[in-house]
Amino acid sequence: MDTSFFVILALVSSVFAGKHDIYSRHAVYGVELRDQDDVATLFNLQQKLNVDMWQHGMARVRDAEVMVSPEQSKEFFETLDNNGLKYYLKIEDVSKVLKEHEEDLAKWRRNRNNRMIFQDYPRYAEVNQYMEEIAARYPNLVTLVNAGKSFEGRDIKYLKISTTNFEDPRKPVYFMDGMMHAREWVTTPVTMYSIFRLVENLRDDERDLLEDIDWIILPIVNPDGYEFSHTDDRLWRRTRSVNLEVSTTCFGVDANRNFDVDFNTLGVSRDPCSQTYPGVAPFSEPETRIVRDILSKYLPRIQLYNNIHSHGNYVLFGFGNNTLTPNVAQLHHVAAAMGTAMDAVKLPEAGYYLIGNSGLVLYRTSGSAQDYGQHVGVPFSYTLELPGYGYDFRVPPSFIDHINEETWKGIAITARLSKIHYRSRTSRQ
Ligand SMILES: [Zn+2]
Repeated sequence: MDTSFFVILALVSSVFAGKHDIYSRHAVYGVELRDQDDVATLFNLQQKLNVDMWQHGMARVRDAEVMVSPEQSKEFFETLDNNGLKYYLKIEDVSKVLKEHEEDLAKWRRNRNNRMIFQDYPRYAEVNQYMEEIAARYPNLVTLVNAGKSFEGRDIKYLKISTTNFEDPRKPVYFMDGMMHAREWVTTPVTMYSIFRLVENLRDDERDLLEDIDWIILPIVNPDGYEFSHTDDRLWRRTRSVNLEVSTTCFGVDANRNFDVDFNTLGVSRDPCSQTYPGVAPFSEPETRIVRDILSKYLPRIQLYNNIHSHGNYVLFGFGNNTLTPNVAQLHHVAAAMGTAMDAVKLPEAGYYLIGNSGLVLYRTSGSAQDYGQHVGVPFSYTLELPGYGYDFRVPPSFIDHINEETWKGIAITARLSKIHYRSRTSRQ
């Protein structure tokens, strides 16, 4: 073999190894929250310094996790100390744990040749290929829809699954999506596994889920961000849109602040480099417009919208400005049923699910997908924050089977409850 092969290989692997160096000497701290004042202190600090909030804590229940760069650390510690907040080191060097995570994934792939697509973190092209294959193999059950293009021109595709070609108005629609935030990799396998359970692996005792409900499953809302998180920056969260009038260095917006509901008011930063920058206008991003259009097209029949994120073990509902909907008791009941079903089979490493209004449980937000779904009239619109098992966004692949199975239980019970509530919704009309 010619030596140039090895030179190229060495070059490729050195580029590969260097990818995570942008997070060299970045550390992650756990921060204990005593009350809502502490939550506010941390939120203000996030706004001011652009520290990256990895997990939103809940006062006296769950600590926050914050990534801090070397430049941010002085003011970060000073502010926490001045306000009497306790913190502790969780990750000393983020670049190091990201490299370990990547090696772990490579090893997993080498050892599991027969893995199914949802037992791994499939790339965008693999997800599309799976959806195309399923649609081709089950033409009477599955329709592949190309909903439009991302900012960088990738097709955003979803599956419609129905035994009646989506034509029976007596059936509710269950709409779920994943990968709105790019680094939340485990959300896509969960959506893919749902497709598998409904189409390829339907069990006798779950026949009702397929026959009585129509499904819309969108595994990757933000393909540009997702691919970028594979190729360049594992911790990328936002879309990848470029708006040179806003910034020549920072790209993308927080898709989950870009919806047209209380836009740019709460839980956002006007700094285009911030993780919570909402964009110049509601629906500035093609990715959020696609979700908006699905909600609008099927609104009369969508009973539940499940906007899936990672991580934190929360089932949250609107509104992010702390106001509650008239159906809040039902909304809470269905969310609690989801949390209970998932908790029943949870791993010891995971926390219990916390259920509630997103503003009251965590902190106030605006422009979220969850709020928008509720605002336009979806009866049950949720943010589901999957477990991180102490690994934050780096959920090891050995946990994927469990998280798929566990989340499916939550999805199944909420689908059945959707059916019951949809019946009373339509009988009132
Ligand atoms: Zn998220």
